[in-house]
Amino acid sequence: MQIFYDKDANLDIIRGKKVAIIGYGSQGHAHAQNLRDSGVKEIVIALREDSNSRDAAKAAGFEIETPKEAALWADVVMMLAPDEVQAEIYVNDLKNNLKKDAALLFAHGLNIHFKLIKPRDDLDVIMVAPKGPGHLVRAEYSRNAGVPCLLAVEQDATGSARDIGMSYASAIGGGRSGIIETSFKDECETDLFGEQAVLCGGLTCLMRSGFETLVEAGYPEEMAYFETVHEMKLIVDLIYAGGLVAMRDSISNTAEFGDYVSGPKVIDDSIKEKMKEVLADIQSGKFTKEFMADYHAGRPIIKQARKKWTAHAMEKTGDNLRSMMPWLSKIDDKKVA
Ligand code: NAD
Ligand code: MG
Repeated sequence: MQIFYDKDANLDIIRGKKVAIIGYGSQGHAHAQNLRDSGVKEIVIALREDSNSRDAAKAAGFEIETPKEAALWADVVMMLAPDEVQAEIYVNDLKNNLKKDAALLFAHGLNIHFKLIKPRDDLDVIMVAPKGPGHLVRAEYSRNAGVPCLLAVEQDATGSARDIGMSYASAIGGGRSGIIETSFKDECETDLFGEQAVLCGGLTCLMRSGFETLVEAGYPEEMAYFETVHEMKLIVDLIYAGGLVAMRDSISNTAEFGDYVSGPKVIDDSIKEKMKEVLADIQSGKFTKEFMADYHAGRPIIKQARKKWTAHAMEKTGDNLRSMMPWLSKIDDKKVA
């Protein structure tokens, strides 16, 4: 895998463009502010008339337009609205208004890879996907570092798509730690799999099963929460800093022995078979179809699940424990995946 850095990018390309950022949420605020600090002079934030994000964008000193107005004006449009609304925005506001030869950028491959958006032939279609949440993209940039970015070109109508993408990635800080070239397909399918099977879905269900097992065996909920949820961060921090072997160096021999003996009993080969099913549903587009159907039906599945998880005993227990530990930092960005 080849990795590119600032030296491989020409910042002047993006500095010379009119850039519209659609959405001012987790990713949007970070891209807009980093681009501005990298010397991009003409930036517009595109939001609906009734958007909650208008105040934040205004407070940061940005000009705000509707997506349609921004499309008529911009050379480069970065799509940072939620994935499920991007196709509507494209059809209603961008398709007939984007300038000829404009560049349409994404931070996630879903809409292009699964053909929810079929971009006009004359557009450059590029992905610049930071591998971190928006607040980190901004915070790292502000301390002269950067979050690594994935770069992909789906459609190169002008012959300059890759150079534009590289320039944009560098301007948001990606070239300080590394820009990795990939495809929309690989970014999209690995990202969805990771968040579903391991990072979000797998992790939360593992924690819930652990918590319930201890509580059902008669142990106090607070202790169950500490052992199966709260302490996850300590272990993950060790893995983040040094990998699995380094984490195992830091824990007790008792914990390490239990890890080797019991881990594979809990996460046995049947789990991998199920993961393969999850991956197959991602690759076939079944997952994306279900996700979009839920959105169009008014989100019954997501709403029901939020209700169920909020009502679970784990949440109350966790809230109680956190109130004992006021030094814990509040989550300032809930969206990382
Ligand atoms: P978000 O939910 O934090 O923000 C979305 C923004 O879009 C908000 O400002 C909202 O007001 C605005 N918006 C909603 N509907 C709109 C419309 N019709 N027109 C214009 N603006 C509209 O979203 P996010 O998490 O920043 O995700 C944006 C993109 O970045 C997605 O493609 C996502 O997959 C990708 N991504 C996110 C992360 C992350 O950590 N959050 C990481 C990598 C990639
Ligand atoms: Mg994701």
